[in-house]
Amino acid sequence: MLDVEKIRAEYPILGRTVEDKPLVYLDTAATSQTPRCVVEAIDEMYYCHKANVHRGVHTISQEATDLVELTREKVRDFIHAASTEEIIFTRGTTESINLVASSLGDMLYNGDEIILTVMEHHSNIVPWQLIQRRKRIKLCVVPINDQGELNLEAYEDLFGDNTRFVALCHVSNVLGTVNPVKEMIDIAHRHGVPVLIDGAQAAPHNAIDVQELGCDFYAFSSHKMYGPVGVGVLYGKRHWLNTMAPYQGGGEMIGQVSFERTTFAPLPFKFEAGTPDYVGIAALGAAIDYIQRLGLENIAAHEHQLLEAATTGLMSIEGMRIFGNTPDKGAVVSFLVGNHNSYDMGVLLDKLGFAVRTGHHCAQPLMARYNVDGMVRASFGVYNTLDEVHRFVEAVRRVAALLG
Ligand code: PLP
Repeated sequence: MLDVEKIRAEYPILGRTVEDKPLVYLDTAATSQTPRCVVEAIDEMYYCHKANVHRGVHTISQEATDLVELTREKVRDFIHAASTEEIIFTRGTTESINLVASSLGDMLYNGDEIILTVMEHHSNIVPWQLIQRRKRIKLCVVPINDQGELNLEAYEDLFGDNTRFVALCHVSNVLGTVNPVKEMIDIAHRHGVPVLIDGAQAAPHNAIDVQELGCDFYAFSSHKMYGPVGVGVLYGKRHWLNTMAPYQGGGEMIGQVSFERTTFAPLPFKFEAGTPDYVGIAALGAAIDYIQRLGLENIAAHEHQLLEAATTGLMSIEGMRIFGNTPDKGAVVSFLVGNHNSYDMGVLLDKLGFAVRTGHHCAQPLMARYNVDGMVRASFGVYNTLDEVHRFVEAVRRVAALLG
């Protein structure tokens, strides 16, 4: 099991106060805190290896390039991709999805259909709507039941002659539902349709094996997995990445440039125009090492314990409504108490030192599905303790009573 007190010592921010109360950070699904070893990796890059990558023959440029390529190999191993050519560095999940939507958009025709689910984050809805400015494509939406489970029969019924793509989240950032992505990918492939998985909420908690899943694309963000802000990953099957047009043009993504004709660099560089965030990428490598040292299974078991305690505790509060009640859900619990506004609850919880997310969680269609404007969400990371969870439950009880 994990030594949580030892883990907490690696996060100076957890020792600070908010409103003169000890901070209890319950917003890891929005962004995780960063352990010292990752911050040290950033320092080390700035102090010792700061030079542009893939450009210079000089020693420090070579060192920086090696660190970026070492992280690419760590990411490949982390998600078990077949080749580093299939690992593209982006700014985050959002940019990864925009890259696919933008490049794929060129290959779509009027009347084509894309399948999404009602529980998608806006970053897996709006990029597909942007294609609608160029092509008359249709978005088809998989519904859920009240528990927060996707309706797989309805999903399969959505496939038709014009279905061209499926994009769905692995784990819902609101409901915590872990979707049966392998089964859904198999169904899509039986219809000859490729699939993108938004893994923003899965990669920090679950072991990912893109080859076993068979997904065509997989996207995630570093800042949600104890890594630095501003870096993300897009995994794409080599066949698709070779077929797709570049997303952005610029330095480093070219083979040869003339005013008459430009050729593109081989994978993965064809999709990495301009100077990448090589400092952040190197630090993502340190975050992956950190997660692997702790062990994803240990992290998941710890978070599961916190989630169970939070769910049981919150359910004892009068008027409590928890959204997302599937077994084996991810480490988030979204709720409302009576008719209290989520924002009011969040402000009062903050006064007591508890950092939670409130509002629509960038999932307005899902809010509409449950007929609410917003929810309060507590989400857990490896550094949270059972004691914090118990104190949180009592704080929610107190805030609900205060709001009458
Ligand atoms: N997808 C899901 C499921 C998320 O939870 C988030 C962020 O909360 C995103 C996508 C967007 O991630 P980013 O803002 O890091 O690009």
